[in-house]
Amino acid sequence: MGMDSLSILTPTKPITTSPVTSEEDPTNPSTALLSSSSTSTISSSSSSTFSHKPTTTILFIALALITCIAVAASIAFAFLFFASINTPKSSNSIESIARPLVKLKSPVVLLISSDGFRFGYQFKTPTPNIGRLIANGTEAETGLIPVFPTLTFPNHYSIVTGLYPAYHGIINNYFNDPITGEGFSMKSHESHWWLGEPLWQTVVNHGLIASTYFWPGSEVIKGSWNCPEKFCQQYNGSVPFDDRVDTVLGYFDLPSNEIPSFMTLYFEDPDHQGHKVGPDDPEITEAVANIDRVIGKLIQGLEKRGIFEDVNIIMVGDHGMVGTCDKKLVFVEDLAPWIDIPASWIQSYTPLLSIKPPAGVSASDVVAKMMEGLRSGKVKNGMRLKMYLKKDLPDRLHYFESDRIPPIIGLVEEGFKVEQKTSKRQECGGAHGYDNAFFSMRTIFIGHGPQFARGRKVPSFENVQIYNMVTSILKIQGASNNGTASFAKSVLLQTP
Ligand SMILES: [Zn+2]
Repeated sequence: MGMDSLSILTPTKPITTSPVTSEEDPTNPSTALLSSSSTSTISSSSSSTFSHKPTTTILFIALALITCIAVAASIAFAFLFFASINTPKSSNSIESIARPLVKLKSPVVLLISSDGFRFGYQFKTPTPNIGRLIANGTEAETGLIPVFPTLTFPNHYSIVTGLYPAYHGIINNYFNDPITGEGFSMKSHESHWWLGEPLWQTVVNHGLIASTYFWPGSEVIKGSWNCPEKFCQQYNGSVPFDDRVDTVLGYFDLPSNEIPSFMTLYFEDPDHQGHKVGPDDPEITEAVANIDRVIGKLIQGLEKRGIFEDVNIIMVGDHGMVGTCDKKLVFVEDLAPWIDIPASWIQSYTPLLSIKPPAGVSASDVVAKMMEGLRSGKVKNGMRLKMYLKKDLPDRLHYFESDRIPPIIGLVEEGFKVEQKTSKRQECGGAHGYDNAFFSMRTIFIGHGPQFARGRKVPSFENVQIYNMVTSILKIQGASNNGTASFAKSVLLQTP
């Protein structure tokens, strides 16, 4: 609560970088409104005058009008000049205050994930419904940046905790506990794996209701979150997307004090197709069109209930997708002349190669020998793989502070894969999990609703910022996390 009352008193930090400012300046709505209204008033009155008066009067009136226009323009310029000094440049000067709720009693955030929705997919085919959210909402102009590794579970859990994987504990889709040796998989619902405080827990902590229609970690019973049957769906990928939308819409038909303040909604597509056929295939185009159709169904359902403009919809993906093909491979067995790495040392192969050598084998020795082999020119695609001790990974990856992260990490270049040994298998498809600096790993961020300015573009940001956006919209104090409260608030319209 303290955080929010503070934000009302203190103007939020302008949303920094110049791209936004320069994007918004030419289309500054206040400029448009002022100039069009002043000219239109004048021209309409003048047209009625013209038809009835003699020429001298016309000339006189014309001169008078020109004077009026000049005066009006100078007043407008003066107004804009002072307005630009007094208002933060980043915020849309016409729309900086959140729009009031019309029908709902309190704010609702609906967080939607379309898995593997690579940034740019929205241009593959007409997407009128997603397009509507973008046109009337706030969009990360060049996409949302996933966390590293750009995988489904680490990213979904970062979105709802605001934490990097090293801090929320889900450091991969599969990994082993370094102490007990116990394995984590995407079906592990034991609470000890899942660190941090996910949004559904934060929401319930504040006496509000949360609902989850699938989200990694949502079935985990932890703290105040007991995954209630009514509002917490157990994962079942075979439930048709339309049914999921119908169930979520049904929550809005509940008595107002039973409507969840925070809801999740998850779709497996187009990730599913992306893996099979890669990002550039008609199947992806169809999957994207279908997601757009489902979003359309959701919008219609909300409109029918008169609450489309009241709900804060945040639509995101977890990561992007890049094409992979059989020649773009690095084989671990090719390193045998330098070092023999048995499959038992390897926790994951690709695109994130993570290795835990047994006790007594020096990790730095393994890295040095692997790098010698990879740089020898004798290993196929050796130059495409770079090995690190995890402590030497670039800081921007934030992939160090967890003993669950194995000591040796290999980063492979975009579109390449690592396998243990050569096989006859030839296949092309798609993958993700690479360095989050690759543009192909980016996904979408769209915010639509009372707290998101219409038609606004913001620079790309990391998905750990979303947690604070949600708590800020719901006016609740979130748990500490890796996002910055001031950034989250700068993306939102301020509450009056
Ligand atoms: Zn995937």
